[in-house]
Amino acid sequence: MQTRDQTAQGCANEMKTALLESENVVRALRESEAYFRQLFERHSSVMLLIDHQSLTIVDANPAAAQFYGYPLDVLRGMNVSRINAQPEVEIEQQRQQAVAGKQNRFVFDHRLANGQIRAVEVHISTLNHQGRSLFFSIIHDITERQRVEAELRIAAVTFESNEVLVITDAKGVILRVNQAFTENTGYTAEEAVGQTPRLLKSGQHDAAFYRAMWETIQRTGAWQGEIWDRRKNGEIYPKWLTISAVKGSNGVVTHYVGSHIDITERKATEEKIRKLAFYDPLTGLPNRRLLMDRLQQALISSARSARQGAILFIDLDNFKVLNDTLGHDMGDLLLQQVAQRLQKSVRKTDTVARLGGDEFVVMLEELSGQRIEAAEQTEKIGEKILAALNRPYPLGAHNYHSTPSMGATLFGDRQEEMSDLMKQADIAMYQAKKAGRNTLRFFDAQMQEAINARAALENDLRNAIEHRQFQLYYQIQVDDERRALGAEVLIRWIHPERGLIPPMHFIPLAEETGLILPIGQWVLETACARLKVWEQDAATRDLVLAVNVSPKQFHQPDFAAQVLATVQRHDINPTRLKLELTESMLADNIAGIVATMNALHEIGILFSLDDFGTGYSSLLYLQQLPLDQLKIDQSFVRNLSSGVNSNAIVQTIIAMAKSLNLDIIAEGVETDEQQHILQLLGCEHYQGYLFSKPVPIEEFEALLTNRKAANS
Ligand code: C2E
Ligand code: CA
Ligand code: CA
Repeated sequence: MQTRDQTAQGCANEMKTALLESENVVRALRESEAYFRQLFERHSSVMLLIDHQSLTIVDANPAAAQFYGYPLDVLRGMNVSRINAQPEVEIEQQRQQAVAGKQNRFVFDHRLANGQIRAVEVHISTLNHQGRSLFFSIIHDITERQRVEAELRIAAVTFESNEVLVITDAKGVILRVNQAFTENTGYTAEEAVGQTPRLLKSGQHDAAFYRAMWETIQRTGAWQGEIWDRRKNGEIYPKWLTISAVKGSNGVVTHYVGSHIDITERKATEEKIRKLAFYDPLTGLPNRRLLMDRLQQALISSARSARQGAILFIDLDNFKVLNDTLGHDMGDLLLQQVAQRLQKSVRKTDTVARLGGDEFVVMLEELSGQRIEAAEQTEKIGEKILAALNRPYPLGAHNYHSTPSMGATLFGDRQEEMSDLMKQADIAMYQAKKAGRNTLRFFDAQMQEAINARAALENDLRNAIEHRQFQLYYQIQVDDERRALGAEVLIRWIHPERGLIPPMHFIPLAEETGLILPIGQWVLETACARLKVWEQDAATRDLVLAVNVSPKQFHQPDFAAQVLATVQRHDINPTRLKLELTESMLADNIAGIVATMNALHEIGILFSLDDFGTGYSSLLYLQQLPLDQLKIDQSFVRNLSSGVNSNAIVQTIIAMAKSLNLDIIAEGVETDEQQHILQLLGCEHYQGYLFSKPVPIEEFEALLTNRKAANS
């Protein structure tokens, strides 16, 4: 049995033990608290203890102080609203969610002491401490994560852009493609992923191309260029491809990104533009520009290779007639067929070009180095072309026959100018025309001389007007009784070195160069001045002067006005002036011609139709013109005595003139017999050597007086 003391002792011991125990507990508790305190204080995560009710920060760890930028003692006791950048209502809503334990993870915008806003993710747990309910919040700054996420989202959207994108691994195995890839290539993502871009290979590029491409990527990290690939449907198309290597932080390539734009359309447009600039739209042949380009190349390469080349100028004979009779559509059709035949007649390396109209050029290259041999080769090809172009052309319902005239020139053994070569071939072509068409002519030195002479003549002709080197000769015109009716004025050029030059040697050139206009005006002025002088004398007052008018002169829009002004200026009797026109110049624009003639005819100026019988005017046509006289061409007169045939023609012409109520004059009358026959056939007026050659004015006036004297 235990005594009281024992009991008391026991109690004391118990108490001691209990006390000891409680001390242990307290110590343990203290240790534990210190342990957790350390955890709290040393943890790198931002931690806050917040009062449920007031949202006052009860405690904060140093990481929090550092993050928010406030000293710890300031942070402790601060209201959450100072760091929470959200509206109060939202904060309250979220507080309630947290209290109710419905949500323990929130994303807030927190404001730091320096004003910066950071996106934070907050994990909240509730705990009770000393009778208070607290939020224990662990806060993570997720600003950076959000930015990366946004970038990824943007990247994802961009990836699905219009540009075709392929991502491969370092070995070139396709990992990802976008929608544009599928639309462009025809391969779905499932079909492409796992393959390599060789899937798209068109076979248009050789191994060296791809080797160079990869070499560039390895060296510079990227490559771009034009590449032809094949779609799933087999179609081969051009694209502009960019390949970039993506490297990891260690500099090793991890991926390749390939992007491309389909340039099929751009290529097509480029091609179209190129075609327009360098090709003739009607025939598809190179145009003059491209020809010149190639000729330049050819000149360089033939100088290097010592091989000759040739230029063939081809002009279709009577193309205008086809256009006028069958219409321009048929004309176009013919040109297209000619283009095809020309291309078939030459080698692929030769050039066939169309300069415009009915003018074509064939450029031959790589001919023999010997000039003679090269000429023979050119001639052979020329013959081939000639034969090809001579075959009939099926033009709609017609089987049309057309012939070409061709001029050729060689190049390669001298320093040649492109423009000279073209000119030479052109000149040779005109020689072919002159030689009766449907033939080939070569340019040669003699031709060059003729050209030089012509150029010199043109130069002199310009001076001639200025230096008054022209003179008018007068050739008398007579009636049946050989009485003087007047004269035709015929121009002569008294060249200071070459002496008298007949009009046939310079009128055509003057016509071509337009110099005929001032020359013709001078003739008209001189004739009018002479008529004025003759007006003063009864013996010459009634004489008529015939003036030749050239086509270019007559076709000036103000021709009538010019003549009227001249007549007025000289104040002459217009009925003493006769203008000689030729049939050929009256070919088209009948309304305009009639208007011009009428304006002059109305005041009394006469018209004679020169060289009649050599043209093709119909009776119907002539009827519409205010003519006064037909002049029988000398070629008919010359043959009168020898052939009955000619007599018949002259007879017809005279009958025709009579039916039109026109005067008739025969020119080139040299013998009495000719005059006699003409007279029998009904001719009334004459001109020719039989009566007088064309002579200077003094001689002509002397002639008039002498005849008068002889007659009286
Ligand atoms: P055309 O108008 O037919 O002139 C007639 C030509 O025949 C003249 O040659 C004349 O001298 C020549 N002739 C006259 N009678 C006879 C003859 O009995 N026998 C021979 N064999 N010939 C005769 P010409 O003077 O040499 O003139 C040649 C051409 O030059 C003219 O042919 C005309 O087309 C042109 N021409 C002359 N003067 C002028 C002019 O002032 N202006 C224009 N535009 N052309 C002119
Ligand atoms: Ca004449
Ligand atoms: Ca004549």
